[in-house]
Amino acid sequence: MKKLLLASGNPGKQHELRALLDIPGLVLLDPSSLNLDLQLSETGEDYSSNAELKASAYAHASGMWALADDSGLEVDVLEGAPGPRSARLGASHLSDADRRQVLLEMLHPHPRPWKARFCAVVALASPEGVIDLTEGICEGEIISEERGTGGFGYDPIFLVHGMDRTMAELSMDEKNQLSHRSKAIEALMPVLRRRLGLKEG
Ligand code: IMP
Repeated sequence: MKKLLLASGNPGKQHELRALLDIPGLVLLDPSSLNLDLQLSETGEDYSSNAELKASAYAHASGMWALADDSGLEVDVLEGAPGPRSARLGASHLSDADRRQVLLEMLHPHPRPWKARFCAVVALASPEGVIDLTEGICEGEIISEERGTGGFGYDPIFLVHGMDRTMAELSMDEKNQLSHRSKAIEALMPVLRRRLGLKEG
């Protein structure tokens, strides 16, 4: 069996990544199972730098291949904000629900529709410093009333383009068919198989 460390402490992301990377011959580990708790500050101004920082630090600390996702929500009328700062919008101690309210307050003065997209960059890193990066985007629109209980983060106010459902109204399987994260993982899959020596699926 080949091992891959999922370099994320975000339970929502961990859950989705585990389903997306459910591949025969691959064992997924999380940092807590290795007693790894790296206090990394995501200082990069873009998703790629932050994803690379997380994956490299965990690969180096664990001595195994590590995969990290850095993602965010970009809203057109806010000129792409909150973007890579999505997890820190408002203040560091806020809950996901609080952050959704902060975003809605920022959007309130702007005319609708509030076109937006989720973006994700996934980094695969080896302990020796090999890095591969892929990205994925999911288009949609922010709505002012929360709908649905699935997912995490901004999902209840993100209406998926071409569907009358928010990301939080989709099952995890449905979200994993179209999300930014699933597209980034899909693009990474051939590279991941080659780097880790996994058989073609
Ligand atoms: P980071 O990648 O750890 O900087 O965090 C990304 C942040 O973007 C999350 O904490 C969420 O606020 C937001 N985000 C990223 N992906 C999703 C998603 O799939 N659904 C909802 N919010 C997301």
